[in-house]
Amino acid sequence: MKICVLPGDGIGPEIMAEAVRVLRALDLKFEMEEALLGGCAVDATGNPYPEATSKLARAADAVLLGAVGGPKWDALPREQRPERGLLGIRKELGLFANLRPAILYPELANASSLKPEIVAGLDILIVRELTGDIYFGQPRGIEVRDGERYGFNTMHYTESEIRRIGRVAFEAARKRDRRLCSVDKMNVLETTQLWRDVMSELAAEYPDVELSHMLVDNAAMQLVRAPKQFDVMVTGNMFGDILSDEASMLTGSIGMLPSASLDENNKGLYEPSHGSAPDIAGKGVANPLATILSAAMMLRYTFAQEEAAQRVEGAVKKVLAQGFRTGDIFEPGTQKVGTREMGDAVLAAL
Ligand code: NAD
Repeated sequence: MKICVLPGDGIGPEIMAEAVRVLRALDLKFEMEEALLGGCAVDATGNPYPEATSKLARAADAVLLGAVGGPKWDALPREQRPERGLLGIRKELGLFANLRPAILYPELANASSLKPEIVAGLDILIVRELTGDIYFGQPRGIEVRDGERYGFNTMHYTESEIRRIGRVAFEAARKRDRRLCSVDKMNVLETTQLWRDVMSELAAEYPDVELSHMLVDNAAMQLVRAPKQFDVMVTGNMFGDILSDEASMLTGSIGMLPSASLDENNKGLYEPSHGSAPDIAGKGVANPLATILSAAMMLRYTFAQEEAAQRVEGAVKKVLAQGFRTGDIFEPGTQKVGTREMGDAVLAAL
């Protein structure tokens, strides 16, 4: 089990140190090696995604990433920006499936902008296709036609692209409550009619998973009306971009949200959904739980270590129940702790 560890910039090294401690505490044999990505890589080599990092990432079974970026590198030319490193590694590894859980632990229900009874206990997983759709479709551009400016993009999916992301979603549903909702706009867009047809065909291979379909406008409404009705949602790149951000905000606590991006062989890049938080970097106050939960996703999806994944997730639930909170999720009546102490609490709970 080879893991390429990329702490990155800002709070990245602080939160990664805790995730690595948690992994080391499990009775599993990992080979972990660190490399540079983002601003720290620019400083050391002039390249946000150096060859040595690329080599290590390609050879590893999984990549665990902190976060990249910060004001220090904002004025650099586009090619040298830390975000370029992130796009580079995602592209090179062929990561086409983005898995974003939105979980609201009952203890944190007040962090949501929705009423606690609507969101407490929320546990949904959004599976977003990451490499196709209107975001990458050709032709595209802005031209002058008939004397006025004309903007155009192309939405397309092949049936094999749809089947491939569909399989990831059905398999993920099998590891959960076995309900999958496919989101499309088939009443208007032919591409998504094909999406719906292929998802329905695939359902025959997964008789143990209950498939439903929903139009994206309704899905956006249902996510704020009654989000707990969903287990796994699967959708294309553009709808997934919007719905996964909507779903993550239901939880109100960005320091808690992990993510995974997978290739065809379940090799994955795992990272918290938040950024490098330069405003609190180096202060020892960042919440490491999103990174620790990303490591749990890695155990589940790349290494098929479901029991270890549940142990880590169980430990996170326990520290919340015990009342430990970093500043971002602090409420009066709970105990405020720093990054290291939160890591200690997770280790103790493990
Ligand atoms: P951000 O997620 O870094 O921070 C937003 C707010 O949330 C800040 O107030 C921050 O302090 C807080 N926050 C984020 N993570 C936290 C944690 N673990 N614990 C406690 N508080 C936390 O977003 P931003 O401020 O828009 O971006 C900052 C930098 O991060 C930028 O350079 C941006 O490009 C980069 N970024 C990187 C990624 C990534 O690496 N995947 C994603 C988003 C943004």
